[in-house]
Amino acid sequence: MLTLNEKEQKFYDAFWELKEKSGSHPPSIISVFDMIGEPKTFVDACFLSNPYATTLFMEHFNREIIEGGKLREYIEAYPPQNKEVAEFLTQVIDVPIDNIFIGNGAIEIIQAVIHNFIKGKLVVNIPTFSSYYEYMKNKEDVIYYQLPKERNYSLNVDRYIEYIKEIRPDSIVLVNPNNPNGDYISVENITLMLRELSFLTNIIIDESFIHFAYEDADFSMVNTYNLLQEYPNLIVIKSLAKDFGIAGLRAGYAVMSADRVSSLLETGYQWNIGGFANYFYRLYSKPEFVEAYDIVRKKYIMNTLMFITELSRIPEIKVYPSKANFALIELLDGSSSKDFMVKLLYSYGVYVRECTDKIGLNGQFLRIASRTFEENMIILNAIKDIFKNAGK
Ligand SMILES: *Cc1c(COP(=O)(O)O)cnc(C)c1O
Repeated sequence: MLTLNEKEQKFYDAFWELKEKSGSHPPSIISVFDMIGEPKTFVDACFLSNPYATTLFMEHFNREIIEGGKLREYIEAYPPQNKEVAEFLTQVIDVPIDNIFIGNGAIEIIQAVIHNFIKGKLVVNIPTFSSYYEYMKNKEDVIYYQLPKERNYSLNVDRYIEYIKEIRPDSIVLVNPNNPNGDYISVENITLMLRELSFLTNIIIDESFIHFAYEDADFSMVNTYNLLQEYPNLIVIKSLAKDFGIAGLRAGYAVMSADRVSSLLETGYQWNIGGFANYFYRLYSKPEFVEAYDIVRKKYIMNTLMFITELSRIPEIKVYPSKANFALIELLDGSSSKDFMVKLLYSYGVYVRECTDKIGLNGQFLRIASRTFEENMIILNAIKDIFKNAGK
């Protein structure tokens, strides 16, 4: 079992005080640095993004915007409207433009969908991404469906279908792969749920991590948008922050029925996309970029697989099966996850997500993102070192 030294303990108190103030999301790394100063080595394994994709984006941005002398134009001029940006996306994702809604990050879409289309009870599987229950205006309309720990918090699809048929809520949400555990529901099972649950007003599927999931040995991209034609109650929400490593640009989109898209655009959201996000969509519509992206996507998946395999070899932790770019781990040696997080950050410069505030998780849990190969080595060595020194 690990213990904190005096300095770590002081940091512990300050950190958790800061966390209190930031609600259900971890404090931003900027505010943590304000508090402790910037460490010599720092690995952000709290935020869940592909660093190779950020580098790819930056290369284009530097060349075309900075060196191309376009920066002023992007800052000075109004960006195009929602529909114009959707023109770019329709080319890449092969979905009719009338079914696309562009958001200022997926979080804006989650708000829009919850506040506009949910007319009764919403079933939310826990543990999961907290905004789905936090944004519901009437908390009594949230029905929590506990994913069983003994099944690694994975969804038992048949049981779930039975349950939904029995309680007949207005809407359901599935985060696939799920955050924080990375559990993946196959396209086959998603299709089964859509078929069996067509009586629901909305079936929301959050595919923010779907680029990291795969069903074949080539890591081919999976998606479920095409199912909208047959199942008009489907709403697919997708952040682009994680897979493209561009959280600061605020980019995300949804695929949903044309009437839902127009009802949102008729009452707002026309100018919700900033200039730099608009530049991203423009870039994304180019086949050369998509090709280059797919290379860094697969490279990162491979890294992540290795990372998770190495984590699984550490006897003091349990690693939950994941098809996302992170792993949920549980401490098995009696150590507290809060102590563990603090020691990792303060003494090793590795920031991970501590999970005590996640409802539906029961135990000492941390969520660790996969990073570059080199950073993953730093993370692995830090964790091993902590256990080596624990109890000494
Ligand atoms: C991060 C995240 C979002 C929010 O994405 P933004 O595009 O940054 O707003 C939405 N859903 C899930 C499951 C996420 O993990």
